[in-house]
Amino acid sequence: MDLFEADKQYIAGTYKRFPVAIASGRGSILTDYAGKEYIDMGCGIGVTSFGIADEEWRQAVADQAGKVQHTSNLYYTEPCVRLAGMLCERTGMKKVFFSNSGAEANECAIKAARKYAAGKHGPDCYTVVTLNNSFHGRTLTTLAATGQAHYHELYRPLTPGFESIDAGDLAALKKLAEKVGIAAVMIECVQGEGGVLPVSREFVAGLREWCTENDAILIVDEVQTGNGRSGELYAYMTYGIVPDAVSTAKGLAGGLPLGATLLGDKLRDVFGFGDHGSTFGGNPVCCAAALSVLSRIDGPLLASVREKAAYMREQFTGAPGIEEVTGIGLLVGLKTVRPAAEIVTELIGEGVLCLTAKDRVRLMPALNIPSGVLARAVEKIKTVCAKI
Ligand SMILES: *Cc1c(COP(=O)(O)O)cnc(C)c1O
Repeated sequence: MDLFEADKQYIAGTYKRFPVAIASGRGSILTDYAGKEYIDMGCGIGVTSFGIADEEWRQAVADQAGKVQHTSNLYYTEPCVRLAGMLCERTGMKKVFFSNSGAEANECAIKAARKYAAGKHGPDCYTVVTLNNSFHGRTLTTLAATGQAHYHELYRPLTPGFESIDAGDLAALKKLAEKVGIAAVMIECVQGEGGVLPVSREFVAGLREWCTENDAILIVDEVQTGNGRSGELYAYMTYGIVPDAVSTAKGLAGGLPLGATLLGDKLRDVFGFGDHGSTFGGNPVCCAAALSVLSRIDGPLLASVREKAAYMREQFTGAPGIEEVTGIGLLVGLKTVRPAAEIVTELIGEGVLCLTAKDRVRLMPALNIPSGVLARAVEKIKTVCAKI
């Protein structure tokens, strides 16, 4: 069977895939059906936090799958409750709602903020302010939150009550607040899909202050930046602020679908029975996987993430064909002289799998990528970027 042809025939045409079919892998090495090996500098899209088929992760998943794989949320399970406890203890957040994806984690944060605002400030206080160039997901509501018009065009009308402002433009927020009731502000600390662009510390601090003064909910979308990727457990921790809600997914369960919305002090009791729900959310196998991932993201692991991040930054800064290096931790963006898509395509030939984000090359290696493997990938990326 020709995989590429069958995919074209039977899979909805939403994905422009690279011509690579992955059969298996181990750690940071992927193998295609012809036996060719690739260094994994993408991890899905920042999902396989400890690489492919990692021994500890596999054991945690297999153990739980052998006990009970699903119960629904009508009953208690240990992995779900323990994971929520671990997330709260390590962030200072108070309660967790589990779902299955980043978009759903954001939906929950938006629902929590809307319910809080309606209760505190009345039914006209519902606007959620996001940033231009942001990405918050593909559901109709998280598309409305996504501040990039080209995602919207085919699907109007989107969920109403969303406005977007430029990153850095605190004045625009204040002006908007004169016209509409603002329930929440939602940001990524580093815009991942938007091109690996960090938002400034001053702006984030300004948003925190404004939200506190106006009793608006500050939601930080950590779907891409979370779970050790930034060099801290969550990127907001490197910004020195405390959000009112944090959404995360991608790397949380190391390769299984799990979303989490962490609710801070203000939102701890916002939801009552029946206010929200999910059939699969908090699935015990996914939660067991996440427990294994989170318990390994400790001080020494985070220090090694920061070390590898510094190494990558130092290697790429000023290298031929690379104009700018952006990002946080092991989420690295390269503005290249040649088009990013061209570079990523050539790197497939060289046995390195990378991502793009808008016009940039995006690198998200496993948090535990061996230094030697990372060095090999960095060399090949530099060589391809340097070609004219
Ligand atoms: C990927 C991503 C999402 C959407 O996550 P899904 O799991 O695809 O729904 C939301 N926000 C950010 C910042 C993301 O990077």
